[in-house]
Amino acid sequence: MDAENDINFECIRCGNCCTDPKTIVNLTYSDIIRIKSGLKLNLNELLEVVGFYIFDHNLDENTKKRLVTPPLHTERGLSYIGLLKDHKGKCFFFDSTNKKCKIYPLRPNFCKTFPFSFGYKDDSADLYIVITKKAKDYCLGFTPNSPPIDRSYWLKLGEEVLKDLKHNSEFIAQWNLLVKKKKLVPSAKQFLIKVIELEKNHKD
Ligand code: SF4
Ligand code: SF4
Repeated sequence: MDAENDINFECIRCGNCCTDPKTIVNLTYSDIIRIKSGLKLNLNELLEVVGFYIFDHNLDENTKKRLVTPPLHTERGLSYIGLLKDHKGKCFFFDSTNKKCKIYPLRPNFCKTFPFSFGYKDDSADLYIVITKKAKDYCLGFTPNSPPIDRSYWLKLGEEVLKDLKHNSEFIAQWNLLVKKKKLVPSAKQFLIKVIELEKNHKD
């Protein structure tokens, strides 16, 4: 992806990113912990908002590497973890009447960073910002009148989010390895139990 330098953007709260049926809001384990803890959800309630989207085709290694969050082994096959949607494809947490996110302070990193994604130039410490393909498809916040973005704000956020994604990838790799060694039952519910254990350990 090419870095983009002059970006003018302001979110106009059109809600397209929360209602696009083809957009799956990926969740890292820290997103899950934040939402669970902020909303005080129990395991069953968590299962009502966290989706395990099964891939409908075999994934080759290159495709797996390109995924922002790696696929997880579950009882139904390899799955992608994301927020659940209603039957129209709208995010479970979108308030259509007021066009607002019902969990704004707890929202996943995907939502915090949209419409941008980030990467390091040639494995250096130089972080770059790109406008995601989905944003180019439907985000209405890029107009000639939109103000220039505050790059330092976005780069700081990008750095934090990339760190979180790295930790998440390590956690999922560990899960998948234990499943491969038959030391874990690959169940979605069991995965959430592990995530809840992480939260408890973090508090202790
Ligand atoms: S969590 Fe909130 S910001 Fe993210 S897609 Fe859902 S409604 Fe939109
Ligand atoms: S699609 Fe763009 S302008 Fe619309 S709510 Fe999302 S970030 Fe804001």
